[in-house]
Amino acid sequence: MSLIFATGNIHKIEEASEILKIQILPATKEWLMNTPEETGKSFEENALIKAKYIFDTTGYACFAEDSGLCVEALNGTPGIYSARFAGENATDVANNLLLLDKLKGREDRRAYFCAIICYIDAQGYSFFEGRIYGKIAVEISGKTGFGYDPLFIPDGYDSTFAELGKTIKNSISHRKMALEKFKEFLNSNSLKQA
Ligand code: IMP
Repeated sequence: MSLIFATGNIHKIEEASEILKIQILPATKEWLMNTPEETGKSFEENALIKAKYIFDTTGYACFAEDSGLCVEALNGTPGIYSARFAGENATDVANNLLLLDKLKGREDRRAYFCAIICYIDAQGYSFFEGRIYGKIAVEISGKTGFGYDPLFIPDGYDSTFAELGKTIKNSISHRKMALEKFKEFLNSNSLKQA
């Protein structure tokens, strides 16, 4: 089995291939360039916009994912704006520094990552959610991963995702949980079809 993943994010493709253990076909540059803007008001709406565009364009079953970091003391932001927290095309470092600045002197540093997968085929669409809870560190630490990994310390650990490394992160992350639910759905659907 192979599926198109409506993303250009190589980290997300690696994580999905590792967990789903099926062939993942990345969206082409041309599709990604023409994908409509993520104008949704929730992770679900944005994931659906991306998945629906690729499905409508290609006619192939595909999935998309929208994810972000929700910080309690900031009323759940940056949330769907995580990638552009410090502005359009902001770098990960700029986003991390802005987050540290906004939490300066704050005791409540609780946060969670959320990932929503939207799968779409001729029968319709379905969502799969994963969350991981933790807190925001007081400084950037670690070199692996992407986004807010150098700031996020998952509950039960003393190090950031970027220090813990890929193997540990991919065994507990929000994306792992959403992908596991999606995998179960794919397995039970293929059993029904068999
Ligand atoms: P998306 O590509 O529109 O879903 O944007 C997701 C953004 O949320 C990323 O650019 C990161 O800033 C943040 N994010 C989502 N998942 C992770 C993760 O696993 N680690 C670190 N940052 C993440």
